[in-house]
Amino acid sequence: MKTEMIAVGTELLLGQIVNTNAQWISKQLATLGMPIYHQSVVGDNYDRVFQTFEAAHNRSDVIIVTGGLGPTEDDMTRDAAKPLIGQDLVIHQPSLSNVENYYKKNKRTMTDNNRKQALVFEQAQVLLNNEGMAPGQIVEVDGRIWVFLPGVPQEMKMLMNEHVLPYFKETFQLKSEIMSEMMRFIGIGESSLEEEVSDLIRSQTNPTIAPLAGDGEVGLRITATGETDKDASDKIAKMKEQILTRVGKYYYGSDDTTIEETVRDLLKEKNMTVGSAESLTGGLFAERMISLPGASSVCQGSLVAYTPFTKEMIIEVPKFIIKEFGTISYECAEVMALNAQSLLYADVAISFTGVAGPEASEGKEPGTVFIGLQIGERKPVVHECHFDGGRDKIRMRAVKKGYELIYH
Ligand code: ATP
Ligand code: MG
Repeated sequence: MKTEMIAVGTELLLGQIVNTNAQWISKQLATLGMPIYHQSVVGDNYDRVFQTFEAAHNRSDVIIVTGGLGPTEDDMTRDAAKPLIGQDLVIHQPSLSNVENYYKKNKRTMTDNNRKQALVFEQAQVLLNNEGMAPGQIVEVDGRIWVFLPGVPQEMKMLMNEHVLPYFKETFQLKSEIMSEMMRFIGIGESSLEEEVSDLIRSQTNPTIAPLAGDGEVGLRITATGETDKDASDKIAKMKEQILTRVGKYYYGSDDTTIEETVRDLLKEKNMTVGSAESLTGGLFAERMISLPGASSVCQGSLVAYTPFTKEMIIEVPKFIIKEFGTISYECAEVMALNAQSLLYADVAISFTGVAGPEASEGKEPGTVFIGLQIGERKPVVHECHFDGGRDKIRMRAVKKGYELIYH
């Protein structure tokens, strides 16, 4: 069975609104075990709407359309579907009352074209829209199912939940369960991760594996369907095991787990504390940790110093380091981490000094960041990083890298 979804509306094509309807509907149907094969967006133009509908009619068994059911000239979903559905459009009385009541309630005069919103296909199952005006419709024709829904997300969701999804479940006797897990990795690039598991991505259909990247980390979404929840989750567990044998050392958690939480738990487990000395990150590292419950048992605090002078005063960076190497340097990051460890009585200390931009500083390009790490009595380590993006992104990426370094 092939299902597809069409969103009608020029605003979508112009980028004025985001096609959240497609995302929501796709997710609901995937969960039901009725995945979407195509998504399209088409503007309010009769010929193009018709062509899009015709293509759908020729290739799909279930076609879900949102938008274009309103009263105006540019709402042409019904008219464009009419030649394919081959039924007359008739006024649906309860919906017409709905429209009339709306105008009465809002003390506006109803123009004739508003009646259009109550038009439905002769043999449609009409889904009365209590949240708005135009009703939804389910039309079965030549073994195909057309579903028409209003574009307004709230109305669409209500009609889907109350009528369309139960109808699909019933009609197609859907009983498969779908589950998914998002595995999160840090310290490995998107392409390297993909390369490590590319054979699995290519060969697997149940579960499927989809790579995702963003915000300085990468993920693999594993999705499985099964007869039962347990069946689906067993499939995921097996696949996860295979993935972990290949790239387990970069894995830090699944689903909503964050790297900050993982580091917090790791420190707790080892009975260790952390402190930071922060320049360009302005306390963001500590903020991310302190926003978590249970931070008090692992986070000692942060020393924030943004100028060379305050680095001397607060973090006790020796004058000669600043003079000789500058504040954006390997040496400065090293001594910042060392001093943070002793000044904050922390087991693990991390330091950040760099250029958030937009201008270069001390002859270093924006995105240049030195991150110092001092763990226990080990030798301090300094990482020189080059991040791209604007100020916010560079600062966020630096903090994330800091968490990554502690985790590894
Ligand atoms: P109405 O009767 O309100 O005119 P309609 O069925 O004609 O409803 P549209 O005019 O296409 O629907 O859309 C109404 C509003 O719903 C849009 O202005 C937009 O804010 C929102 N909308 C429409 N389509 C989508 C979509 N695919 N994703 C998210 N929002 C949408
Ligand atoms: Mg409209």
